[in-house]
Amino acid sequence: MLAAALLLGLCATAAADNVLFENVRIFDGKGAALSAPSNVLVEGNVIAQISTSPIAAEGAQRIAGNGRTLMPGLIDAHWHAMLIATGPAETMNDIGFATLAAGDEATDTLMRGFTTVRDVGGPAFGLKRAIDQGIIEGPRIYPSGAMITVTSGHGDFRQMSDLPRKPGLFTPMEINGGSIVVDSPDEVRLRAREQFMQGAVLLKVTAGGGVSSPHSPLDVTTFTAPELRAAVEIAENWGTYVAAHAFTSEAVQMSIAAGVKCIEHGFLMSEADAKLIAEKGVWLSLQPLHEMMRTGLREGSVERAKADEVWPGIDRTYKLAKKYDIKTAWGTDVLFSRAMAAQQGAILASLTRWYTPAEALAMATGTNAELLALSGKRNPYPGKLGVVEEGALADLLLVEGNPLENLDLVADPANNFKIIMKDGVIHKNTLAE
Ligand SMILES: [Zn+2]
Repeated sequence: MLAAALLLGLCATAAADNVLFENVRIFDGKGAALSAPSNVLVEGNVIAQISTSPIAAEGAQRIAGNGRTLMPGLIDAHWHAMLIATGPAETMNDIGFATLAAGDEATDTLMRGFTTVRDVGGPAFGLKRAIDQGIIEGPRIYPSGAMITVTSGHGDFRQMSDLPRKPGLFTPMEINGGSIVVDSPDEVRLRAREQFMQGAVLLKVTAGGGVSSPHSPLDVTTFTAPELRAAVEIAENWGTYVAAHAFTSEAVQMSIAAGVKCIEHGFLMSEADAKLIAEKGVWLSLQPLHEMMRTGLREGSVERAKADEVWPGIDRTYKLAKKYDIKTAWGTDVLFSRAMAAQQGAILASLTRWYTPAEALAMATGTNAELLALSGKRNPYPGKLGVVEEGALADLLLVEGNPLENLDLVADPANNFKIIMKDGVIHKNTLAE
């Protein structure tokens, strides 16, 4: 008990007592406008009451909002918590160091106002546990565990000297759970179940080539239909879903035919694919990838050539997503760079290229939360996220200014997010200063 209290005291600025936000204007995670000046009572980890009339809350910590904006904590739907603070080799060759570095980055992530991330590939189970126990500060994590890939697929980072593969021999990438290579439906079932055994809440497969892996050309359809179906079958046995990395038409269509519920990227898909995605009610998880992620790749390299092919598809795909009213999630897919991770809010703000600030913010809160809920019985944080409404979990940001008028406010969280609350606990409060 004492140890737990000490830990909480070290990690949280305030215990999970009742908190009353007074005179705030609410962005609820869905709407197009702020509410009238309101009061919001948080009891424990839940939003208990919202009212334009005064709320009597005996003993609650009172926060004078002074007309600031209260909004849901941000959600990044495509994140790799273990693959940011360290490079690929460093991550896999020293998992202890990588986990500690990822913990530090997780605290930064929370301090940028991101109270939840969907982790679509990487060994984030231990990190999640440490955050959930209050040992370190960080976002809620919805982990997929290792990316499931095939020989030469996206996520297979082996060298030619590793071939031919000997049965039972694993690379550090596989041992540490960054990605795992499968080459038959049986192997898919085995590795998928291993992810769930460790606490995965969805599965991530790489159904086609990717930019950052050396041996997976973009056009290649990596999984066979029976392999994809095996992944879907196991995910459904566990009451959850498969998210598939897929750029091309072939990869998108095979994934959907197999029962995949969320397409990641889709940047090389056709208009017909967009129609199909809309028709089937499949999610499209898009990222307004930062130009620096492309130019950071060495000119003349295979990776750079692939990025040059993918990047023009970003604009086209966002336009298709809008045209066909596709259920669209937002994420960043930052890899191997804390400097880029620091731009997380700026990457969100860049959505104004296609959306109003309100539409962009709704995507990063209420809409992303609907995607998280697809984890069904595997949902590690049952309760409503991404919205400010009575009964929802209390993940809240108190923002200086109105982000619906100026979305760039979210790009400067250090100055503009005065209070960051996760699960009813205040992790940052600069109002007193
Ligand atoms: Zn990714």
